[in-house]
Amino acid sequence: DKSWSQRETDRVPPTVDPTRPSIARIYDAILGGKDNLAVDRAVAEAAFKAFPDGGEAAKHNRAILARAVRYMCEQGIDQFLDLGSGLPTVENTHEIAQRINPDAKVVYVDNDPVVLAHGRALLATNGNTSVVTADLRDPEGVLSHPEVAGFLDLTRPIGLLLVAVVHHVLDEEEPGRILEAYKEAMAPGSHLLLTHFSSAAPEARALESVLLRTIGRGKLRDRDEITDFFSGLDLVEPGVVHPPDWRPDEVQGPEPQLISRLLYLGGVGRKPV
Ligand code: SAM
Repeated sequence: DKSWSQRETDRVPPTVDPTRPSIARIYDAILGGKDNLAVDRAVAEAAFKAFPDGGEAAKHNRAILARAVRYMCEQGIDQFLDLGSGLPTVENTHEIAQRINPDAKVVYVDNDPVVLAHGRALLATNGNTSVVTADLRDPEGVLSHPEVAGFLDLTRPIGLLLVAVVHHVLDEEEPGRILEAYKEAMAPGSHLLLTHFSSAAPEARALESVLLRTIGRGKLRDRDEITDFFSGLDLVEPGVVHPPDWRPDEVQGPEPQLISRLLYLGGVGRKPV
């Protein structure tokens, strides 16, 4: 008789190596999802040991995504390019945007083929949404991909989302240069939402060690480095802040500086017209 985890790995599609953890599936495990394997849960457990508030922090990250997409819709943005979009979870970008504007278009891009498989199943009935397997470190490749260039009108403003993914780009891969290419290509009036692991909480160093040891990626950067990713754009108030502080829906009382609030920094920038 096979163990449960052996049976689980028997079911994975041939493009997936069940012995290697995947960022998309680890993040799914951290959010409490079911689209992950034993090898991913092992990393998630090590991550929780290092940073017990990681699940709460990921929820704050999903919540700023929802508020920022809503904000962009209110600014008239009706097409979104979501890079490093992850596995479908609750409140995906197209659900948030299309609730406000049913005609809003969303292209999800992820370099993990598992996202395409699950995304296709979720989106089969939605003609305004598309899922592409591509590597965001290749901006020219992403922007000229037929399902990006043919689906979005890049001569008009877009909402570019880089949510919890640029910390998986190493310094030597030049994240600043990659960002420049996307900012250069997007039309004036476009908006960028970027969130990133921050070095604000010293406890996050232990999490960084786990990620670097297991998947080789997951770098904390400080507020100046993260703010630099928005260079050339006008930062929308309140600037680069911890996610719960970015345009909260409800007026907040004095909050204790819970560690879960500090793991990410993020903001929205607008390309000047
Ligand atoms: N954006 C979602 C969110 O914030 O909820 C998911 C974030 S998840 C931590 C990071 C995602 O980025 C994973 O699905 C991973 O596969 C993807 N990713 C990492 N490096 C990438 C790259 N070079 N190109 C495209 N996607 C990438």
